[in-house]
Amino acid sequence: ARTTRSLRTVSVSTLRARLLSTLTIAEHSNATLNAGTLSAISAARQLGPGPINVLVAGAEADVTSIASQIAQVDGLTKVITVANTAYAKGLPENLAALVAAEVKANSYTHVVASGSAFGRNLLPRVGALLDVQPISDITQVVNESTFVRPIYAGNAIATVHSTDPIKLVTIRASAFAAVELAGASTTIEASTNDPNVPKSSEWISEEITKSERPDLGTAKKVVSGGRGLKDKANFEAVMYPLADALGAAIGASRAAVDAGFCDNSLQVGQTGKVVAPELYLSVGISGAIQHLAGMKDSKTIAAINKDGDAPIFEVADVGLVADLFEAVPELTSKIKA
Ligand code: FAD
Repeated sequence: ARTTRSLRTVSVSTLRARLLSTLTIAEHSNATLNAGTLSAISAARQLGPGPINVLVAGAEADVTSIASQIAQVDGLTKVITVANTAYAKGLPENLAALVAAEVKANSYTHVVASGSAFGRNLLPRVGALLDVQPISDITQVVNESTFVRPIYAGNAIATVHSTDPIKLVTIRASAFAAVELAGASTTIEASTNDPNVPKSSEWISEEITKSERPDLGTAKKVVSGGRGLKDKANFEAVMYPLADALGAAIGASRAAVDAGFCDNSLQVGQTGKVVAPELYLSVGISGAIQHLAGMKDSKTIAAINKDGDAPIFEVADVGLVADLFEAVPELTSKIKA
């Protein structure tokens, strides 16, 4: 009878806290922390009580700087570092072995990463190594085993229950408010679990498009151009001044990208970036379902299109039926004034 009584005094949340243990993977580039990592930590916090560690791997200088930034986030247990050039540039082939080794050594129940190209590249490889099914692009945590994720380009919402012993989850950054980089000084600890795998892939070079404008994935305002702009010269002449007047990032439809109006890193939609800014202003975009999949969760959607029946107007909060070549320069000069 005494045993029964003492068992009852342990609350369910305490038991779950003992069982849950989460590793969040930090994404960074050239000593800059990717904002999606802060959303991934936010999702990790929602899993329930239990330790949350963050893994920072890469070249030594980057790791030192990123770890000290993340250590400021409140509510973390430890920041785990691995300084090894094999993990520089987030090479997923190398990093997957490290994450799998960390999970095995520390019996993590959950691994969370941003659903960016980095996370989408990494977690399936970790899943293969650990023989568990990753759950991608979640928009909500129901409980530690149950997650909500859009399917069919956002046309249906699935609630997924995982019975795997380890849950590997990528999160849609726009669905989880980023945690703040302030207020704490979490312990930073070097890992002893560097599997030192032979480098299965190697970084050769990169070509980075430099821009003074905000990053498309995290910008508060996005102006997006479509095929209605007709060519690259128009895209630049019309969209760039509008973006600069508003302090907005530039996005584009796939038709605009395919026609070479702009770089494909600017594509918004099912096969591009998913954004949810405070303002999304679409210009000369029809509003195909695959485009809507990438922007329909924006807080305010405004659209300029000369066709009043364009499907974009069905999701727009504010619409202007007009020729963009007249309306946008006028709008830009009014914003500037
Ligand atoms: P259009 O559909 O050609 O629309 C151009 C619009 O501009 C029209 O509505 C027209 O009225 C308007 N317009 C023209 N001239 C003017 C003017 N002077 N003033 C004002 N308005 C004007 N698309 C994406 O965007 N992102 C994706 O990620 C994506 N993924 C896809 C994945 C798959 C598997 C498939 C099959 C398709 C995908 N697409 C995607 C393509 C998508 O179906 C559409 O073809 C594309 O979004 C159309 O781009 P658009 O609206 O710029 O062009």
